[in-house]
Amino acid sequence: MQMPSWEIGRALGIPIRVHASWFLVFLLVTWSLSTGYLPDSLPGLSPERYWAMGAVAAILLFFSVLLHELGHSYVALYYRIPIEQITLFIFGGVAHMRREAPSPKAEFLIAVAGPVVSFAIGGTCFLFVILAESIQGLQGMIMLGALLGIVNVQLGLFNLIPGFPLDGGRVLRAGLWAWGKDFYRATKQATVIGLAFGAIFSLVGLLIVYRAASGELPASMMSNGGWVVVIGMFLFAAARASRRQAAMRQSLATVPVRDIMVKTVVSIPAQCALDEAVNQYFQTYGYGGFPVLADRRLVGMVTVSDVQGVAPALWAWRRVEQVMRPFSESLVITPEAPVIHAMERMASGGWDRLVVVQDGEVVGLVTQSAIVHFLRLRSG
Ligand SMILES: [Zn+2]
Repeated sequence: MQMPSWEIGRALGIPIRVHASWFLVFLLVTWSLSTGYLPDSLPGLSPERYWAMGAVAAILLFFSVLLHELGHSYVALYYRIPIEQITLFIFGGVAHMRREAPSPKAEFLIAVAGPVVSFAIGGTCFLFVILAESIQGLQGMIMLGALLGIVNVQLGLFNLIPGFPLDGGRVLRAGLWAWGKDFYRATKQATVIGLAFGAIFSLVGLLIVYRAASGELPASMMSNGGWVVVIGMFLFAAARASRRQAAMRQSLATVPVRDIMVKTVVSIPAQCALDEAVNQYFQTYGYGGFPVLADRRLVGMVTVSDVQGVAPALWAWRRVEQVMRPFSESLVITPEAPVIHAMERMASGGWDRLVVVQDGEVVGLVTQSAIVHFLRLRSG
């Protein structure tokens, strides 16, 4: 279920994207403000006026969420963690960090920065309301200020719920990480609390819906209960996804390349002609690529696409060393390196396989598809 999103600008050098689901919230917020909250608290204005105020309030709420995410991003950038983008969607915003925080302290500061920004905005709004209260003709602004203040404080408080992946859950993870010295175990523990909060929210929401339906609570509480259920389910799903991801990253970071590499390596001599390479190697073994050796030394890698780049009529006159990708440090890895390093090296060098080398000897080959299979087995 991939919905489109649009880039609307940049802040701190980070692309800001708005997800399609966010427009639904924008309309919902504008509608409920201009037909409910605003006419109730500020009677006697024209409907157009309410709609305009509602839209302004919705946009200000949008900036509140954005500033919250920029709070996280600012601290993350301070720790040199690149932010891919900030996405605003139906439940708020997410700043996509490329890396995990380097230390529990960094994790803690990045996590609290968002709620701190929200509380600061909330406080500023309330200050404005108090100062403007005595001035005549500012009722509309005061109303919006109060609303914005309440929503920002709520945003800060909700995010401080200690269930991962909410900000409070990240604070909890930072604490567990500092205490137990194990990042992955801390992540898994923090996601358990996230699962628990997700389940509790869902159940409480269902209870509200049930009581509103049976008349024990006002019928108007029905939609509130529905929202609580949706938020609970969202938190539950997010915690479960985070838990899976943590388990996957943990196995990638702890399992050595040795455990998933192919140990019987077939390599091609550098002097071999292409037609011979095709017949005796590519077709015989069915592999997508082979290490190339000259005097038992690794000099490069030749893949199907390297061969395809040459017209078949010329294969008899070209040697493997003329079409291969020559050796570079990004082509090799040691058997003791964790699988995650092999993945990073493949990504940075543009390889789909790496040659495993120990003491100058080729001892194996690790491929992208082997890593994919390994992950499937681990997650299944
Ligand atoms: Zn946050």
